[in-house]
Amino acid sequence: MKALVYSGPGNTSWQEVPLPVIQHPTDVIVKMEATTICGTDLHILKGDVPAVASGRILGHEGVGVITEVGSGVTRLAVGDRVIVSCISSCGRCENCRAGLYSHCLDPEGTVGIGWILGHLIDGTQAEYVRIPFGENSLYKVPVGVSDAEAVLLSDILPTGFEIGVQYGRVKPGDVVAVIGSGPVGLAAVMTSRLYGPSKVIAVDVDAARLRRASDFGATHTVNSAEDDWKEQVLALTDGAGVDVAIEAVGIPATFTMATQIVRPGGHVANVGVHGRPVELPLNELWIANITISTGLVNTNTLGMLLKLVAQRALPARAFVTHEFTFDQVEAAYEVFGNAAQNDALKVLIHDGPRLLGTASGSESAQDIAEKVYIDGIDRFDHPGTAWN
Ligand SMILES: [Zn+2]
Ligand SMILES: [Zn+2]
Repeated sequence: MKALVYSGPGNTSWQEVPLPVIQHPTDVIVKMEATTICGTDLHILKGDVPAVASGRILGHEGVGVITEVGSGVTRLAVGDRVIVSCISSCGRCENCRAGLYSHCLDPEGTVGIGWILGHLIDGTQAEYVRIPFGENSLYKVPVGVSDAEAVLLSDILPTGFEIGVQYGRVKPGDVVAVIGSGPVGLAAVMTSRLYGPSKVIAVDVDAARLRRASDFGATHTVNSAEDDWKEQVLALTDGAGVDVAIEAVGIPATFTMATQIVRPGGHVANVGVHGRPVELPLNELWIANITISTGLVNTNTLGMLLKLVAQRALPARAFVTHEFTFDQVEAAYEVFGNAAQNDALKVLIHDGPRLLGTASGSESAQDIAEKVYIDGIDRFDHPGTAWN
């Protein structure tokens, strides 16, 4: 089979590798229909995640069809179409039973726990993948859910919802600010609407991203490149501050911004992946009764979010802006790696013709990007969308 193999910082190639095989009774082999690229994959490529060894197949998101199950698997069968959770977990240990799948205790001693795909074991940017603990780490896809919708449930929708919206304790009537309008920030914007907030304010430095945020359910947008961005946010709350500030960037400046706009008694939910320490002004926060939460996604809400996507209550398809075939995966990285320049949000990488034919090898990533841009395909016009 072919797969995207990492061979040290800055180096990957779509190359021939051996097919994965069942190693444990709970393993499942999936033939991938589609995958996507996460910001984390870009961090790996930069060399920021040294645990990723040379020779590793990247990717932790995707949807496919089961081709083989281990002897201990009884609730999944060959032919089932499944979403791969970015978190692998046994579903039986103490932490899993508490819903903390990202801290599964790995009772089989397989290979470590939580986020292991495309990290500690081979991942989903491949024609086939081995999924440990298949029964708890794969979700059957209801009829009518497309690849472009399914891949968003592997990681970004649960991450925005669990670590942003649920940990931030969004409740009806709240004013919610989401700092960062990348895929995960927009997932928080979209899923915050499930709790009926009165306002959802998207905050970003990029005007193009902010325009898009309104399409995902933001009621207001504020450009934080403007000097009075904070006053603009506070003006939307009668000066009180927001009830919930969700940080979805992962740099010290945006974490500080979240602490500056939250009201007394409010919540700061950090979703962004930070690469270095952040200064925490506890001397100011304690007296305002602020709570701060952090976390790695568990994907324990994946099944629930999948139902809402299937019912068209969450317009997940809106995230996919570009599509590529597997053999164009390197071009997909080019486009996703320069997301602002390409107006890219999520890229769909799949196993065959969808909307367009295969681009010829002589085309640049930019040419391919222009050709494959999915221009508003049934974006934002799902009849059941809660806020339309
Ligand atoms: Zn990810
Ligand atoms: Zn477990």
